[in-house]
Amino acid sequence: MKHLITGGAGFIGSHLAEALLDKGETVFVIDDLSTGSIVNIDHLRDRDNFHYAIDTILNEQLLSEYVDRADVVHHLAAAVGVRLIVEDPVRTIETNIAGTDLVLRAAAKKKRRTLIASTSEVYGKSSDLPFVEDGDMVLGATTRARWSYAASKAIDEFLALAYHAQFGLPVTVLRFFNTVGPRQTGRYGMVIPRFVGQALGGEPITVYGDGKQSRCFCDVSDVIRAVMELVDRPESHGQVYNIGSTEEITIVELAEKVRKLFGPDSEIEFVSFEEAYGPNFEDLKRRVPDTNKLHELIGWEPKVKIDEILNSVVAYIRKNM
Ligand code: UDP
Repeated sequence: MKHLITGGAGFIGSHLAEALLDKGETVFVIDDLSTGSIVNIDHLRDRDNFHYAIDTILNEQLLSEYVDRADVVHHLAAAVGVRLIVEDPVRTIETNIAGTDLVLRAAAKKKRRTLIASTSEVYGKSSDLPFVEDGDMVLGATTRARWSYAASKAIDEFLALAYHAQFGLPVTVLRFFNTVGPRQTGRYGMVIPRFVGQALGGEPITVYGDGKQSRCFCDVSDVIRAVMELVDRPESHGQVYNIGSTEEITIVELAEKVRKLFGPDSEIEFVSFEEAYGPNFEDLKRRVPDTNKLHELIGWEPKVKIDEILNSVVAYIRKNM
């Protein structure tokens, strides 16, 4: 089959491209390299079944051409990362809403199998844990830029589900929880590449807030396995799935682990949220997915544990330092 991956030079997109090529599939990528990097797909460029365009998905003509050529559309292009969102909310909102609108419109015209990447951020600061797909969204005020990401991705989800309901688009919404692995950059906030980079560089490891907030980190290979299996599941059309690990770790525990494993000389430095992200920032205490829906459909569960994830990130950062 032929697959279009928007955002295919990004962290998750490039892993998906590679896995599909390894399976013998044909891959088309559109990426404007805004947060992705050509380095992420350099090793794929001489593969026969790999084609890419460095351009924005807002280029409607190019997008239509690529959607036309593909059997499956994986829409991963988006503005992501807490730092990017807080610093550039206009880009976040516009890319995420206008981009997804165009992708869905093009996919619907050709009735393409479509998978839309969304985020656990849409649950917001709900305390109704673990998060179940049809649970409530609890977002903060519009004066807090962070929530623009959740709101924009929620609109993407509404639109995808509306295309399914009104026009029968075979679309599935994938709610990715904290996903990590090689090629993820810490530039836009993501904690694991930041901590690992700091530890390897002998710099202080910066824990925001009191570090008692927790997250569940899932290896990108586990996430890709779920996405690839969902492609061929008609039962998933018009449905939303959580994809993430359920193993919780606090951020201070994570910092201590990273320090012990890779940077015993690094200190742990506590930084206030205000210092890190400016005033009006709101973090969330816990984020744990309920993955029963996905498990029941495809028997999925994550295999890679946190230590192994950290080792793969370290190996990647060392190689590229
Ligand atoms: N975080 C941190 N230090 C950093 C970067 C992030 O303590 O240098 C914290 C952040 O405040 C959050 C957690 O790590 O509580 C996960 O942050 P990330 O941006 O990776 O993901 P998200 O907030 O979307 O879960």
